Amino acid sequence: MELNVAKELKLAGIVSKAVIKERMAPLELLGRSIVMTEPVEVELKYFFDGEGFRLDGKLKTAIEMNCTKCDKRFVEPFAVDFSERFLRVSEAEAEELDCYPYTGDVLKLDKMVQDMILLNAPMYGLCKPDCKGLCPACGTNLNITQCACSRNDESNPFAALKGLAELLKED
Ligand SMILES: [Zn+2]
Ligand SMILES: [Zn+2]
Repeated sequence: MELNVAKELKLAGIVSKAVIKERMAPLELLGRSIVMTEPVEVELKYFFDGEGFRLDGKLKTAIEMNCTKCDKRFVEPFAVDFSERFLRVSEAEAEELDCYPYTGDVLKLDKMVQDMILLNAPMYGLCKPDCKGLCPACGTNLNITQCACSRNDESNPFAALKGLAELLKED
């Protein structure tokens, strides 16, 4: 994802607007795969302040993830506001200054976009607010059907043990 700033470099202080929409490859986070099911849309205002660029805007997409309770894949809308700075410095310097580096008259937005998604992607989510999850004893998806163990009183600690015994028998 790139933003051409040749014009703005010559006109410090002039605010420009842009909307960029691009498909992005999945990102890996702690063994989890974050899949963007819709193109990432970045809507932004930006200007050159004589030293570097300031970008303010909003990022929108949709993220596919696994339900924390039942493990089903589902899609959730994702949006985050941002305010970032790009300076003509090396990558190491940019890290120290908490900004993004650029060279020439093009800002490469990929790292900024990836950081925003990785830092703000929800770690937990439910496929629906009242997801019943999986039976802890036999693994049946309780949204779809009831299993034999769930007919027992849930407060009875032996119910879970009985389910476990049945699981062991299957081996
Ligand atoms: Zn679920
Ligand atoms: Zn069960």
